[in-house]
Amino acid sequence: MRIAVASFSHETCTFVPKKTTYEMFKDYILRGDEIFEAVRGIPTYINGFMKVAEEEEAELIGILAAGRTKAVGFTGWITRDAFEKIMDEMLQRFKEAGDLDGVLLALHGAMAVEGIPKPEAEIVRRVRKVVGNIPIMVTLDLHANEDHELAEAADAVFILKTYPHVDSEEIGIIAAKCMVKTIRGEFKPTMAFRKPGVVSASIFQGTNYPPMKIVYDRCREWERKGVYCASVAAGYAYADVPDIGASVFVVTNNDKELAERAAQDISDLIWSLREQFARKLPKPKEGVAEVLRLVKEGKKPVLIAEHSDRLGDGTHVLRELILQGAKNFAVGGIADPKALEYLKKTAKVGDIVTVKIGGWAHPISGKPIEITGKLEYLGEVEYTLVGPMGKGRKIHEDLIAVINMGEGRHIIISQRLRAPLDDQGFVALGIDPRKKDIIVLKDRVHHRAFWDQIVQVDYPIDAPGLGPADLTTLEYRNVPDQFYPIGKKWRKSKEAKE
Ligand SMILES: [Zn+2]
Repeated sequence: MRIAVASFSHETCTFVPKKTTYEMFKDYILRGDEIFEAVRGIPTYINGFMKVAEEEEAELIGILAAGRTKAVGFTGWITRDAFEKIMDEMLQRFKEAGDLDGVLLALHGAMAVEGIPKPEAEIVRRVRKVVGNIPIMVTLDLHANEDHELAEAADAVFILKTYPHVDSEEIGIIAAKCMVKTIRGEFKPTMAFRKPGVVSASIFQGTNYPPMKIVYDRCREWERKGVYCASVAAGYAYADVPDIGASVFVVTNNDKELAERAAQDISDLIWSLREQFARKLPKPKEGVAEVLRLVKEGKKPVLIAEHSDRLGDGTHVLRELILQGAKNFAVGGIADPKALEYLKKTAKVGDIVTVKIGGWAHPISGKPIEITGKLEYLGEVEYTLVGPMGKGRKIHEDLIAVINMGEGRHIIISQRLRAPLDDQGFVALGIDPRKKDIIVLKDRVHHRAFWDQIVQVDYPIDAPGLGPADLTTLEYRNVPDQFYPIGKKWRKSKEAKE
């Protein structure tokens, strides 16, 4: 049994003006067995495929994996050129792979490509043209934006059920088991698809809390009633694409009626929860004031999730912390490669330095902030993740700095968007986050897999940024009119109310 494995994944924030080019992808493309070596022992979709292949004595053929880029933060529209170059190479490798029995594609789902409205469906269709009529099954991130085109192109689609994403390997196993059984003729994948028309900000999609918990509990209920896998992608609101928002894929073993019934039920449930997916969150001034009040009450550490910053250079929360006299805080990263280069040229550890940081990538990030303090760390750093997210993964950062502004105010300056998934990203730099009153992370939900055990309060602040909670502040051009809450239909009724 020969099963090919390929991956092409990207979460494209189309509101970022800087495009995602082939140049950014090319140094990180993995080929052949490299795609397996890279994830051995790390819980990922592909590692899940590998576990099943080993048990079932199936041979996995590594094709190509693309997705990592050298961008500083999130980047905008993927160029058509990048998509075509990567697909050309992928398809060439499929042609050279010999006879295949099936294809497993580990995609993301929130890729946005210039001139290709539904890239994941397009990837499956192009692979299909080369490999012919064999099963093609797809795994997706919970942030996928998809519609009926992918449901029609693929034999089965399997999506994460956790955010923080801790079930990638499990979903890889579910997909690979389905593939093996299908090749053996023991399973006939039968899929139903629904698009409820609900678009939600990532900050509201954590799966341990309502409303998402309600949705996934319902999926598991259907799985107990005989559905093989009931998947919901909550969707990625920061890509202005026609298939934006939640989607439901239900896979059964040759039971179309059951699949349709489950998909409709889950879709109706998501629609009924739509207002919970569009709550309001505090802005920086009121939010920081509330955090300081919590600290005074002894509810510390408080973790501020500066969730809207997709570029890493946002200064809104730091500015308020300084203005409102906050003490004993650690900012997990303000991205500023130029400030780092300046420090490298002009200063050494122990010096008192003054440097302007942040506010350079986009006007929405806020103005740069000038800070003065003792340079406590400057150079490269390496550490290994210990939390549930990416446990065992080695992180290497070429250049990073820590400035202590006094009164326990530690600012980390990083090369790119930085939100340590566990404490090691602080400990390696000589900061003990457990002793801080306030920790600031530019992240939405992933950090909570670890940090909920360390902090007393997780407090999201809706600073101006390219990934806001209030989606009606963004200008969408490509989304369907009836999609809640950003389609024309809902915007009009909102304006009428105001
Ligand atoms: Zn995701």
